[in-house]
Parts: sequence; structure tokens; C-alpha cells
Amino acid sequence: MIDPSKHKLREVIVKNRQEIAAGVFVFSYERVYSFTSGQVVAITVDLTDEPRLYSIASGENESEISILFNVLPEGKLTTQLANLSNGDKVFVSRPFGEFKGDEESAYWIATGTGIAPFVSMYYSGLGKDKIIIHGGRTLRSFYNQEVFQKAYGERYHRCCSGEKGEHVFNGRLTDFLKTQNNLPIDFKYYLCGSSEMVVETRDILIAKGIPFNQIIAEIYF
Ligand SMILES: Cc1cc2nc3c(=O)[nH]c(=O)nc-3n(C[C@H](O)[C@H](O)[C@H](O)COP(=O)(O)OP(=O)(O)OC[C@H]3O[C@@H](n4cnc5c(N)ncnc54)[C@H](O)[C@@H]3O)c2cc1C
Repeated sequence: MIDPSKHKLREVIVKNRQEIAAGVFVFSYERVYSFTSGQVVAITVDLTDEPRLYSIASGENESEISILFNVLPEGKLTTQLANLSNGDKVFVSRPFGEFKGDEESAYWIATGTGIAPFVSMYYSGLGKDKIIIHGGRTLRSFYNQEVFQKAYGERYHRCCSGEKGEHVFNGRLTDFLKTQNNLPIDFKYYLCGSSEMVVETRDILIAKGIPFNQIIAEIYF
């Protein structure tokens, strides 16, 4: 397990803060270090608090690092982050982590803010030969959906558990996956989200014949 307190933090200024759906926010800050898409940074607003980890949601060559987060009602950091305005400061680490994409054919499977590393991979040029499955509670919560819809068409699947919408599967991502037959066994399957989602999705994929070593997961604990 990664210990975010092991990372040196530096001050950055919040920019482009936006609430994209109820309780789901994105903000950015100027990029100083290079990174590989899929990596994370440790963030805190108070140096006496333990930083939390966040996947980078922007491309490797963009001038800013974007962070996508959802507020947990009793969460220490996300309730503080939600109250930030443009111009406020936060403390961030250098990017790190081993969840990295490549150019091979793959499924990118995420719930909620777990889409962030795949957004980064897409904007870093790794979007070719990918199929995206994204689960969320509300129709507005599918970050980057306009771009993905245009780029992937029927290879972009949104699964919405809380609302019905056009071209959107009504239900959980795992229910959608159970309806999928003949999943290619030579694809990689990248999973990102809560431990419950990752474990359940992995079990469904294995039951459908996907070799264990083709499944690569990032768990948001
Ligand atoms: C590799 C990695 C990447 C991640 N990337 C992202 C990302 O891109 N976006 C994102 O949104 N998250 C991401 N996370 C999760 C993130 O690191 C935080 O865990 C999350 O944002 C919650 O932080 P918090 O400080 O608000 O919650 P915490 O204070 O850590 O609380 C965690 C949980 O405990 C509950 N809780 C806290 N205190 C109490 C209490 N007293 N009683 C009962 N329950 C309590 C909270 O409601 C919450 O559900 C990632 C995690 C990992 C490991």
C-alpha cells in the first residue's frame, strides 16, 4: 500500500474549480513535474493532516494537472476541498504510482471518479482500441462524457444506477457487465473504483473466462 505521508508536498494554487454534478468537483493547478497517465498525487489543504491520494485526470502534455473528486459526507479532506475557491492554495506531492496504460486493446472500466486515470490516458494519446464502461449515480456525473461519446460511440457505455437516460444502461456497471457475452480474452481489463466494485467486477470477468493476469486494478480505498 502507498503511504501518502511519505511524499514531500509543495504549495499550488487552485484554478478552474467547477462542480460538474452534485458533490462532484474538478479543479486544476499548474503542472511542474512530468508524469505518466494513470499516476496519482497526494493532496492536503492542511499540512498537519494526512494527505489523501487522487488520480490525475488530465493529459501528460497539458499545462495543468486536473483532479476530479467527489465529496464524502463525513470525509475530512473532500469536505474541505469542496469549499475551496479559485486562488486558494493546496499542498500536493509529485506524481507517482504504477497504474499505467499502454497502446494494447483494452477495456477501461470505472465507477464514479475512477474514470480519472482513463481520462488522463485518453488525453495522453492512449485512447486507440479501447472500450469504456463507466458507472455513475446521476446522468451529469459522467465526467468527459461528451468527448468520449463523440470519440467512441457505441464503444462508450454509461451505466446509471440513479436515473434513466438515452443511450445509457439503467442499472449498475456490474449488472451491465453480466449482460456482456463473448468478452475478448486477449484484451486487457483495467478497473478503477472502490474495492467493492473492483472485487465484484473482477469476479464477473473471471467467471466470463478472462484470464486473471489480463485484469489490472486501481482501488480507491
Ligand atoms: C490510489 C488512489 C487514488 C484515488 N483517487 C481518487 C480520485 O481521483 N478521486 C476521488 O474522489 N478519490 C480518490 N481516491 C480516494 C481519496 O484518496 C480519499 O480516500 C477520498 O477522497 C476520501 O477522503 P476524505 O478525506 O474526504 O475522507 P476520509 O476522512 O478519509 O473518510 C473516508 C470515509 O470514512 C468515513 N468517515 C470519516 N470519518 C468518519 C466518522 N467519524 N464516522 C463515520 N464515518 C466516517 C467518511 O464518510 C468516508 O466515507 C483515491 C484513493 C486511492 C487509494
